Amino acid sequence: KLHNQVQELKGNIRVFCRVRPPLASEPESDIAQIAFPDDAEDCKEIAIMGPEERSSLGTVSRKNNAFSFDRVFGPSNQNADVFEEISQLVQSALDGYNVCIFCYGQTGSGKTHTMSSADGMIPRAVHQIYDTAKSLEEKGWTYTMEGNFVEVYNENLNDLLGKADDLDKKRHEIRHDMQRCKTTITDVTTVTLDSPEMVESILKRAAANRSVAATKANERSSRSHSVFILRLLGHNTITGERCEGTLNLVDLAGSERLSHSGATGERLKETQNINRSLSCLGDVIGALGSGKEGGHIPYRNSKLTYLLQFSLGGNSKTLMFVMVSPLQAHLGETLTSLKFATKVH
Ligand code: ADP
Ligand code: MG
Repeated sequence: KLHNQVQELKGNIRVFCRVRPPLASEPESDIAQIAFPDDAEDCKEIAIMGPEERSSLGTVSRKNNAFSFDRVFGPSNQNADVFEEISQLVQSALDGYNVCIFCYGQTGSGKTHTMSSADGMIPRAVHQIYDTAKSLEEKGWTYTMEGNFVEVYNENLNDLLGKADDLDKKRHEIRHDMQRCKTTITDVTTVTLDSPEMVESILKRAAANRSVAATKANERSSRSHSVFILRLLGHNTITGERCEGTLNLVDLAGSERLSHSGATGERLKETQNINRSLSCLGDVIGALGSGKEGGHIPYRNSKLTYLLQFSLGGNSKTLMFVMVSPLQAHLGETLTSLKFATKVH
């Protein structure tokens, strides 16, 4: 469009899969057999090997579950390799597109490592956008970068950059300006990123707020969705052109199923809310991907999809990462995640 040739990809929805490496604490005997049949440079397939089954005739067979995605990253891929594949998508927010990138997967599958760690997609995106914006200055462009960091917890919106005491107490409403396709959140902290280094303190502040709020359900971050919203406001002082794009980077709540957590009371409500919002996200992306754009898209069925309404569909771009744990014990959840991702594809 404006600054870079954004490659026309089939549709505006892509799905990537990433399998994290085993941790030092995870012995080899606990690791599942996962194969990457393609060429490692441009891998698009993943096969989960089933257990060996002996038939009555004594022959051994395995049922393999193969899935294909736009890209598959294996245990040897680093965050830098992953970012390389999304950098063009990130760039398109500078051209005025609305972009959403999600990390989906069970707790422990690598969502936060990929999205919000010190070398994850959030800091890398901010640094790249900053560098590109700087290089566009000579063409007359000046950019303002505004950030919000919010959390959807129990279908309520929290400000992760506000006071920790306000979490779960202060109410924030989502306001849609239907004419201008703009979304605002009431009473939310907005930071202007004057330097790319600010992203580090933003990530720290958000993480600290969440850890303070973690009480009984001590890993709160796995029970809520975090959404980093970066608005890029461009103005060309030579031509007078203006453009505005939004990059939404979403670390979703753990996708593990209710039956596994044996939840009751407050915890049950949380889990139901998580299940509902994740399936609603799947419904929305699925409906958009099916090309029934003119039809009804159920944005209103969850807080998350309602918040992201103007960044999902239309000419916006969506990328879903489905994160996979290499553990044998997690195979059931892994298959559920891969099937979910196939459905939205
Ligand atoms: P989630 O956010 O999905 O619950 P995490 O991102 O916290 O999962 O990852 C679980 C653990 O695995 C963490 O200790 C994290 O540092 C580690 N980990 C995840 N992905 C990778 C990776 N690609 N390389 C190395 N360690 C990883
Ligand atoms: Mg996490």
